[in-house]
Amino acid sequence: MKCPKRHSWLFSSLTTMIDLMIMEKKHCGIYVHIPFCKQKCRYCDFLSAPGDSKCIREYVSALKNEIRGYKDSAADRVADTVYFGGGTPSILEPETVEEIVEALGESFDLNSVEEFTFEVNPGTVTYQKLKGYKAAGINRLSVGVQSADDEKLKLLGRIHSFKEAVECVEAVKEAGFINFSLDLISALPGQSIKDCERDLEKIIGLEPKHISSYSLIIEPGTPFFKDYGEGGEKRRDLPDEETDRKMYALTKEMLKSAGYDRYEISNYAKPGFFSRHNSAYWTGKEYFGLGLGASSLIDNVRYSNVRDLKEYIKDPKEHVIEERLDKAALMAEFMILGLRMVRGISKKEFERRFKTGFDEVYGKVLKKLKPAGVIIEEDDTVRLTDYGLDVSNSVFEEFL
Ligand code: SF4
Repeated sequence: MKCPKRHSWLFSSLTTMIDLMIMEKKHCGIYVHIPFCKQKCRYCDFLSAPGDSKCIREYVSALKNEIRGYKDSAADRVADTVYFGGGTPSILEPETVEEIVEALGESFDLNSVEEFTFEVNPGTVTYQKLKGYKAAGINRLSVGVQSADDEKLKLLGRIHSFKEAVECVEAVKEAGFINFSLDLISALPGQSIKDCERDLEKIIGLEPKHISSYSLIIEPGTPFFKDYGEGGEKRRDLPDEETDRKMYALTKEMLKSAGYDRYEISNYAKPGFFSRHNSAYWTGKEYFGLGLGASSLIDNVRYSNVRDLKEYIKDPKEHVIEERLDKAALMAEFMILGLRMVRGISKKEFERRFKTGFDEVYGKVLKKLKPAGVIIEEDDTVRLTDYGLDVSNSVFEEFL
């Protein structure tokens, strides 16, 4: 005869155990790298290159293999965010994205994912493709518009015009994506402050929920470096430092009056639409990096995947340990990444994590930085001032 009472006790104990197991799971983010682009942009030093359909097929198969390898080791983690970056993830067909998402779901607990971002290049999508991405579970898009000036887009080596970028954004909205971000680059060769203002007006006019705005960096090894790097023939076409600073100030001012909160040095969002995935990096959350050259931070160890495509396809599970972060390195990282956020860091959170008094470790540094007007201490919070955010790199050096 069944004993309902005993059964219900057993059931509630089991439920409690399961609850506890869920509670004990560590939270993490997942990054998936898609290293293919239609053509290489002239300023880009990301790990990306054009790839034919055979190469993409082989890569996706290796990627799924790598993902399956995490089945046991990721069992005690729960993912909050997933981010497909590149390269150009939108080079993939929706069916391929579904396959990858399915593989992710077999190895990782995706039940709590609240933000699923996918990077889009305007020259690679259609309304149908975007609908397909939505059906695969993606709920946030990051669109690389970069400039509203066709001449500059051509100079950058982008594969799309601004008109095509606008059509892409219209398709993004029509496909039902409310949460989308646009990328913008300033300090471009030959760009005036007026041009920068026009770019900002046009980008704001597209009504994204989030805008990432960076100054152009001339990276060694790129075609841009030959032209605009040290000793390059066209270097004089780059805006000077003062113009760059003015563009930066204009960006802050125009985005603020358009209702965007600056929440990180280069990132602005309408209330509630900050990037949860990137914020997780800045607050020291663990993440799994999957795909060519991707890096992970798990249990205070930084791993990275091989950067050679052929090698990755041959053995996608080979990870290299880059660094075991000791307490000093973790504390420095907590400060440097946390201070990128406009809201700053919490001293109590620091003390909870490192079981060490904040002032004991950084009291002297703050004493030095505060009179310079770059940092503010208010009760539990330490944050950079507006000026501190502008000169953040030199401030961060003090925490190393
Ligand atoms: S699309 Fe993006 S990743 Fe690809 S080459 Fe251009 S900037 Fe680099």
